[in-house]
Amino acid sequence: MTVERVLAPNPGVFTGPGTNSYLIADGREVAVLDPGPVIDTHLLAIMNAIGDRTAVAVIATHTHPDHAPLSNPLAERLRVPVLGYGPGPDFEPDVRLSDGDEVRVGERHLQAVHTPGHSADHLCFRLSERLFTGDHIMGGSTVVMEDASAYLESLYRVQDLGVARIEPGHGDSMDDAGEAIAGYIAHRQAREHEILEVIGAGAGTVADIVDAVYSFVAADLRTAATHQVIVQLNKLLTDEKVRFSAGAAGPSTMVELIARQ
Ligand SMILES: [Zn+2]
Repeated sequence: MTVERVLAPNPGVFTGPGTNSYLIADGREVAVLDPGPVIDTHLLAIMNAIGDRTAVAVIATHTHPDHAPLSNPLAERLRVPVLGYGPGPDFEPDVRLSDGDEVRVGERHLQAVHTPGHSADHLCFRLSERLFTGDHIMGGSTVVMEDASAYLESLYRVQDLGVARIEPGHGDSMDDAGEAIAGYIAHRQAREHEILEVIGAGAGTVADIVDAVYSFVAADLRTAATHQVIVQLNKLLTDEKVRFSAGAAGPSTMVELIARQ
């Protein structure tokens, strides 16, 4: 079995050096994981890397634009099915994968692990001691969340798998999976604690919390930071660690949150 990485030429604030497209091969058979965005040179780079081996599947971890849109065009060229959790923008799977489903490559099996949080449709893929994590765990940066409760649950989920090595959707491989996952969990807990502290100290609006907790982010990332604060406040509301103060108009305003006594 071999794992090869083909780096997509889409570096950026949210993609690091670019998207890692993986070729997972056993014997003569190859599956492509996360082909990335539709970029002609990247499609050619993947085709060249496959060489004269037999492609068996194109798989996407989730339907975000830096991971999935090249899946259908590439699969058409290779005459193989597209696999993923479900359809999304510029992504139409032929086969829908659920938690626990297996994809055969040669004599090996990739196992889908549903890991919602970064996105509801996110899958990681386990290959014995390895875990391909897409955007659930990224090399070199924290992850943007759609749902903080689901995200933390999914971190515990992959921690329980006990894998040795992580192959992320962006950045370098991680040789100590246990340490990396524990680090992500600790980071989430620290951030949540920090938000509770600043609310306790009087930060009553989303903007106040962003100022206090994400003061280090560049101006062009403030919108993203604001979104992350709202996502984390939703979790704290669900966990009943904060509530809306009297007079706040509801979830759409997210103002005047106070710590529960
Ligand atoms: Zn993503």
